[in-house]
Amino acid sequence: MNEQHRAVGRVKEVTSLANPLVKDIKALALKKFRDQQHAFMAEGLKLVIDALDLGWQIKTLVFAKAGLGNPTVEKVAARTVAAGGTVLEVSEKVLSAITRRDNPQMVVGVFTQKYVALKDIRPKEGPQGGDVWVALDRVRDPGNLGTVMRTVDAVGAKGVILVGDTTDPFAVETVRATMGSVFAVPVARATAEQFLAWRKGFPGLAVGTHLKGAVDYRSVPFGNRPVLLLMGNEQQGLPDDLAASCDKLLRIPQAGRADSLNLAVATGVMLYEIRRGALKLEAVQA
Ligand code: SAM
Repeated sequence: MNEQHRAVGRVKEVTSLANPLVKDIKALALKKFRDQQHAFMAEGLKLVIDALDLGWQIKTLVFAKAGLGNPTVEKVAARTVAAGGTVLEVSEKVLSAITRRDNPQMVVGVFTQKYVALKDIRPKEGPQGGDVWVALDRVRDPGNLGTVMRTVDAVGAKGVILVGDTTDPFAVETVRATMGSVFAVPVARATAEQFLAWRKGFPGLAVGTHLKGAVDYRSVPFGNRPVLLLMGNEQQGLPDDLAASCDKLLRIPQAGRADSLNLAVATGVMLYEIRRGALKLEAVQA
């Protein structure tokens, strides 16, 4: 018997919403239970495969009955069993309840949460620009956080530092907004005090973005140095202590009536400017 079939033999079939394993997964919708279980949920076969390839620890794989016989699903089930995880084959009703969606993806993975410690971030210089880290001050909106993580991934920046009381990078809405980048982008978290202490040792340029910034964001020669980009809270912007810790406060010029740009959009504009020299178009495959 090959490994795939062994895994299928160890699948638990679940059709009841009252099943304790299903209840635990449903509870992951709440931060309290995500924190208790150190776990989070990601939807979609491709995401689950990417996560496994990137070394994330899978606790549970849930798949719809329709996935039975699908060789890719069975392979992922085998990998889950090999990694010590549980595999559940569930009815569509159960999958809809877990994901709170009418037309859920065929596969859901429950993974162990992972953060990088601030002290382990050691940014380096680079010939096409140094390492780039984005610090988000008290980010509130999961869609913004997820979009920033996706953009950090897309531009090849190194990761995100969550400063102060922020939304959860492992919330279902955040994970959805990352479109899989949650598995590729390291996240650290810190109080404002811890961040300010760490920032003193940052071996590059710390730039904040501020609506009162005096410097045009396009005028900074980022060179080969590591860059720490500080972005302010959606409502209040950067507080004085974080703004004062920056080498420069940059502004993105605006026309029209909008007071400011959306946080994730402003982060995208900044990241493309900072990474301008490092990003090249690859040839498009015919
Ligand atoms: N009312 C807030 C304020 O007074 O700062 C608006 C915050 S804005 C929605 C969220 C963050 O995006 C800001 O703190 C800043 O980091 C960045 N941002 C948005 N528009 C910007 C601009 N035109 N120039 C520089 N930063 C900007």
